[in-house]
Amino acid sequence: MKVVIIGAGVVGVTTAYYLAKSGHQVTVVDKESEVATLASAGNAGLIAPGHSFAWASPTAPKELLRSLTVDDTALRVNPLKAPGMALWGLKFLRECTAERSTRNTTVKLRLAQYSQRMLDQISADEHIDYDDIHEGLLYLYRDQKRFEAGVKKMKFLQDHGQKQDVLDPDGIVEAEPYFAPVKDKLAGAIYGVTDSSGDSVKFTRKLQEVCERMGSKFVVGKGVTRFNATAGKVQSVAFDDGESMGGDAFVLSAGVQSPRIARSVGVKLPIAPAKGYSATFPIKAGDGAMKMRIGCVDEELLVAWCRMGDKLRVTSSAEFTGYETTYDEHDLRLIRKLTHDLLPEAAEYDKGTYRACNRPMTPDGPPILGQAGPDNLFINSGHGHMGFTMACGSSKLVADVIDGKKTDIPIEGLTLTSRP
Ligand SMILES: Cc1cc2nc3c(=O)[nH]c(=O)nc-3n(C[C@H](O)[C@H](O)[C@H](O)COP(=O)(O)OP(=O)(O)OC[C@H]3O[C@@H](n4cnc5c(N)ncnc54)[C@H](O)[C@@H]3O)c2cc1C
Repeated sequence: MKVVIIGAGVVGVTTAYYLAKSGHQVTVVDKESEVATLASAGNAGLIAPGHSFAWASPTAPKELLRSLTVDDTALRVNPLKAPGMALWGLKFLRECTAERSTRNTTVKLRLAQYSQRMLDQISADEHIDYDDIHEGLLYLYRDQKRFEAGVKKMKFLQDHGQKQDVLDPDGIVEAEPYFAPVKDKLAGAIYGVTDSSGDSVKFTRKLQEVCERMGSKFVVGKGVTRFNATAGKVQSVAFDDGESMGGDAFVLSAGVQSPRIARSVGVKLPIAPAKGYSATFPIKAGDGAMKMRIGCVDEELLVAWCRMGDKLRVTSSAEFTGYETTYDEHDLRLIRKLTHDLLPEAAEYDKGTYRACNRPMTPDGPPILGQAGPDNLFINSGHGHMGFTMACGSSKLVADVIDGKKTDIPIEGLTLTSRP
């Protein structure tokens, strides 16, 4: 079957891999000039089933309300900059009950755990080195009360198979000696023992090469404007240069742009952009930072980081402010605070490169997978803050759905129609 995939981020390329492996003739199209240039290029690199909590939770509305008046929250909304978000926002609020939040976390966790296994299998089968480190992740707390609440919350993931240890400051230093000089600033940590990290651009581009060796084509620099459908089937995609491309099946994995393209065939995807900031610094030679093994999340600032080879990647913030991806020095304040507080000597902070990019967020949290609208249209989009973690699993599920195979895990709660 000829399959056209729209979007060459980590989600589109992993979809291409599974479809090519199963014998399809795959073409991936992307409006950018290279694969993995948007959200897939800016992420913190954490493979974090141990952080699968849905953002829509009983505490989220308070945090978002607070962001209207104060400047220090990691989760922010600006209704003036994101006027089209009202319906999405209402759906998000509906998901903030304890019951829905638990259900959504369960769906995400199951997919994330499965996906990590698929990622490990791909990298082993295809010999892909993506600066991956398999030594767990630390979820760090500075405040005792928040730490205790975090430990209570993490119990849910433990009960669902995640191996997590609770560490005091000495335990943190034992796990990651690099924190010895700053251990007094920490109340404790939850150690996601089986979580990992790596460079999603390296992974995606190396997987692109694998796909090309299997015969897949990558057509870059061409933006899809719409689907052309007749008789209940997509016949082709139309490009912004007036050309089109036909196929037997189509997979939409265009990140935050998926809803706009899906609308051309009447499919409404509740995916909104949540902007984040991303900084990459060269690791400083000689002070031991090159030995840093464990990626982290500062649970107070909600800043995440890991070492990717000889670079330090640090990311922050989730702002519902529309589609733009500009940033200024003020936007980088949480990244600056984190590196100042906990990693003051780790990197050459005057040599940073920066970007802002949009996470494709669904209101409930899990991505949207499977067939929707026309018979031959399949969605693989909306992976939010965990797209690197969930991409391989979601792509394997979508490939199996296209092939009519039984999926390895249930897709209940992941398709457009199986969400309440
Ligand atoms: C700051 C930040 C930190 C993050 N940290 C983590 C983390 O630590 N761990 C984790 O698991 N996840 C993390 N994420 C989330 C993860 O990066 C995303 O969920 C994931 O990259 C989404 O992948 P994608 O392929 O769906 O989207 P993208 O990478 O955005 O790719 C979509 C592609 O579609 C293309 N496209 C769009 N419109 C069109 C069009 N009209 N025609 C053709 N092509 C089109 C784009 O050019 C793009 O290449 C983070 C995200 C951000 C922003």
